[in-house]
Order: sequence, then structure tokens, then C-alpha cells
Amino acid sequence: MSAALGAKALTRGFTSRTVDGFVGAIGNTPLIRLKKLSEKTGCNIVAKGEFQNPGGSVKDRAALGVIRDAEKRGLLKPGGTVVEGTAGNTGIGLAHVCRARGYRCVIFMPNTQSQEKIDLLRMLGAEVYPVPAVAYENPKNYNHQARDFAADLPNAIWTDQFDNTANAEAHYLTTGPEIWEQTGGNVDAFTCATGTGGTLAGIGRALKEKSDGKTQIWLADPPGSMLYSYVSSGGKLSERSGGSITEGIGQGRITNNLGTFVNELSGALHIPDNKSIAMLYDLLDTEGLYLGASSALNVVAAVELAQKLGPGKTIATILCDGAYRYQSRLFSKAWLKAKELEAAIPEHLKKYAVL
Ligand code: PMP
Repeated sequence: MSAALGAKALTRGFTSRTVDGFVGAIGNTPLIRLKKLSEKTGCNIVAKGEFQNPGGSVKDRAALGVIRDAEKRGLLKPGGTVVEGTAGNTGIGLAHVCRARGYRCVIFMPNTQSQEKIDLLRMLGAEVYPVPAVAYENPKNYNHQARDFAADLPNAIWTDQFDNTANAEAHYLTTGPEIWEQTGGNVDAFTCATGTGGTLAGIGRALKEKSDGKTQIWLADPPGSMLYSYVSSGGKLSERSGGSITEGIGQGRITNNLGTFVNELSGALHIPDNKSIAMLYDLLDTEGLYLGASSALNVVAAVELAQKLGPGKTIATILCDGAYRYQSRLFSKAWLKAKELEAAIPEHLKKYAVL
């Protein structure tokens, strides 16, 4: 076939399941009905398989969203540089999209992060600057360093995942409508945890609009996060206390991505780590799903919501990523012991802690 033929002519007859490159493979993830938990609750518990995105997490959508937005607004031109402060999935998503689109990718991250994540980012062509892990208020915080680095560089953007609403917009335009379509418009409630708030607010806004306000949206919050008390106390941020084994979630402020949507939530669920780790092992045992801890926390919240709302309902949530990025912790006996979580795992599931 002639090389002069355009992509349209060359791909004639291809189906919509055939996509163009890495970026084309982002989104359109399956909605997975969790059979055992659906039977147990008498509800449909359905979960968006975001671990199937090509970069391995829900954050591929946000990474593409912020880059596309900057391109559209003329802030990022060919050969430009994308800078972000991130400890994980957003950086990995950005590094992939930058390779696919020919941008330089620079990542600032706290120096407490695992070597695996630094190695992966570098293998994806990103420049990584591990910096001392200091509080947000300190000008040396990794986010501020990313902002300052981009400010001094021509044709460079700081993607600012927490406050750049192109993040939530990506979920409003893709993940939310996909869930609506995959349930035939039959979704009584949606719940998930937040880091930037993009997933919760973007999907929440889309589902609320499509259902004429009928779909309930609930926040799922880990220990150490300040949002659960904010939502349940009607708008007061508590003091930060405690921490969680879940990575990538929990928040101490109302980001732009969460914004005023926080006032449209039906409520919040506080999910302790012992429930999340037990669910993580249970989902592996009963469904064969190998998931990160935020996914397990989301499923605990979906089950609690099913119990609150009663049988016959459809409750949707998010499976954010797989366990591969965390397995040296989540499946290690020594780590579970150090976190005092051994007792949370039922006897018949302990066999999965093989490390
Ligand atoms: N789970 C994991 C594993 C994540 O990395 C993130 C993003 N930090 C989230 C959940 C939360 O997503 P969002 O930033 O859209 O609130």
C-alpha cells in the first residue's frame, strides 16, 4: 500500500476498538461488576477498571487532560517542557504522554518515594528531581519547586494537577459519561476517594447532570485526610492527625478541582486501613483482582453505601490502579506487621502475603 495514503485510508475497516497510539488507548475502560459483593449486598457493585489504562492508572486521563488543555490554549508548543510535582501516578501518566507527544518531562518528587517509581519515571524518559519532603507551606515543597522551575523556562508549563481544573474536566468528559453509558443510565450512587479531587468532582458532576441530580455522590476518605470531617461537620477543616497505608489519596484543603462540588456531596465515609487491606486481599481471592489500596478503599465504601441505600441499587466506584507499584509493601509480612495490620487479614487470606 502506498505510503502516501493518509491514516484514514490506511485504516479503513478498522473498528472503534482499534485506537491510535498510547494516547488513543487512554479511557474506555471496562466497568467490572463485582459478583460476590453484588450477591452479598443485593445491589450491583460496579467498578471502573482504570488499572487498564495504558500507563496503569486513573491518572492517565488527567495527564492527557492537562496536556491537551495547555496545547489548546497555546501554552505548550512542539518541543516544549511539561513540569509537575507528583509522587506517583500523575507523573507516570505525564511521562508516557510526553514521550508519545515529543515533550520533555520534568518531575519533582519528595525524596521519600520508592526507588521503583524513580526508576520507572526515568525509564519513561522523565528527568526526576527528588527533593526534601517538606510541608506545603515551605517554599521548598516539591510542588512549589515544580512551579518555579517551569516559570523560568521558555515554552514550559507547570501542569498543577491539584488546582488545574482541566484534570476534573477530563473525568467530566470521559469517565463520567462512560459510567453512565455502561450502566444504561442506571447508577444510584457513586463513591471514590480523592487526592486532587479530579476523579470525584469530574465524574460526580457528569453523573449529577445526566441523572437530573438523582445520582448520589459520596466521598470515601482514608485516615489522616481532613475532608471526611469537613463534609460531615458542614464545612470545618479539622487538624490533620494520623496517616494511612493508602497512597495517592487524602487531602488537607479544598483544591480547585474539588471546588464547590464539595457542597453537592450527599455525604462522606471514613474508611480505616484495616477494612481496606482486608478488602484488598478479599478482591484478590474472590475476583482475581490485584489492586492498589485506594481501589480497595473505594470498594469498601461502595459496599457500605449499598448497605445504607438498601437492595436493588447500582453503586459505582473506581479501581484506580493495580498492586504492582506497591507489592513490596502490601504483600509483605514484615510490612503488614510493622503497620499492625496482620490481624485485619482473615486467616484463609494470609497465604497471599508471600513476600
Ligand atoms: N488512587 C491513586 C492510586 C492515585 O494515585 C490517585 C491520584 N493521586 C487517586 C486515587 C486520586 O485521584 P484524584 O487525584 O483524581 O483525586
